[in-house]
Amino acid sequence: MKLLEGKTAIITGASRGIGKGIAEVFAQHGANVAFTYSSSVDAANALEEALKATGVKAKGYKSNAADFEEAQQLVKDVVEDFGGIDILINNAGITKDNLLMRMSEEDFDTVIEINLKSIFNMTKAVQRTMLKQRHGSIINMSSVVGVKGNAGQANYAASKAGMIGFSKSMALELGSRNIRTNVIAPGFIETEMTAKLDEDTVNSWRNAIPLKRGGTPEDIANACVFLASDLSAYVTGQVLNVDGGMLT
Ligand code: NAP
Repeated sequence: MKLLEGKTAIITGASRGIGKGIAEVFAQHGANVAFTYSSSVDAANALEEALKATGVKAKGYKSNAADFEEAQQLVKDVVEDFGGIDILINNAGITKDNLLMRMSEEDFDTVIEINLKSIFNMTKAVQRTMLKQRHGSIINMSSVVGVKGNAGQANYAASKAGMIGFSKSMALELGSRNIRTNVIAPGFIETEMTAKLDEDTVNSWRNAIPLKRGGTPEDIANACVFLASDLSAYVTGQVLNVDGGMLT
């Protein structure tokens, strides 16, 4: 069953990893997909073609989610190209890990701007369109690290916890207009972001997870389908942990 037929989604940071998985699964469910990337032009072009081949409308936009003006322009372009926006997935994110002792001010600021300020930029940019339509589903990609904290990731954890507070506030502000805002907190999802880690660390993480495996981008994408579709019509302001039981 196609759960997103006729809906248009903007997904930030979809040239690879989780965002790419969401774009692919959304297209399989019939959604038209506008997606962004930061620098991976070739990967973005390849994804655009692959999505179009499934029969949906798709377009990649080079747009820095941390830049307020670029976010405004992006949404203007998407509304012109697609005619509306039903779903926003704020997925773009980075890490710059270090113990506080060695964390530079720049590494703190960059992570906050790309991971947290971006959701302010994008939500503000889509707000007018969704208010006029009187419907919308916004999904913000946090992390178990935002729920629990993690040594060596104070900047990342602060950005991901901040997303939760922002999202719950949006659920309260925008609920009366039928705009829902929810958060997904992925656990350990195996992507290029985690491929930088050494094999022993990765194996110890897999073993510590009740389901005994890392997650896949599709695991996250399927949770996004639920939160984006009308199946979750009465769900807002929630944090859904998709982590193989990690935080249990
Ligand atoms: P990834 O493989 O590193 O991909 C990151 C994506 O974000 C890429 O498409 C990248 O574009 C884009 N991006 C980076 N900076 C951007 C910016 N300023 N503006 C627009 N796009 C930007 O990451 P991932 O593992 O898929 O993670 C996706 C999200 O899930 C992140 O928010 C991450 O924090 C969260 N998450 C991941 C895990 C995990 O285990 N992987 C766990 C919990 C939460 P380019 O290709 O052009 O650089």
